[in-house]
Amino acid sequence: MNYLEKLKDPRWQKIRLEIFQRDNWTCQSCGEITKTLHVHHWTYEKGLEPWDYPLEELVTLCESCHEEETLCRADLEQCLLENLREANFMCSDIANLFGLVGTKTLTRNQVKEMHKEWRRRVDEG
Ligand SMILES: [Zn+2]
Repeated sequence: MNYLEKLKDPRWQKIRLEIFQRDNWTCQSCGEITKTLHVHHWTYEKGLEPWDYPLEELVTLCESCHEEETLCRADLEQCLLENLREANFMCSDIANLFGLVGTKTLTRNQVKEMHKEWRRRVDEG
């Protein structure tokens, strides 16, 4: 069974509906409710079937946000690391950021603002 076939499997279809319901049929990144919705896996583990993941590893995203996550994530993560290094973030600074993010109170725009602030610090040297 290839990946596309697995996504048609009733075990995945059932989980998918559960996630859409849990997330109120709303993209958890941008709040979109009218675009086509996808269920995104935060992580992939070798050997696990799409339906084998704990529900907290899955999230509802709209088509655009899912595409962005899939195509841009690795580059942006790399960019974030480089920014942290270039802006001379200390371990404690990173730990503080981690604490902020861990509260899950940051919106997408707040994260973008943080990124802009890092860019500003980097550009100022
Ligand atoms: Zn979205």
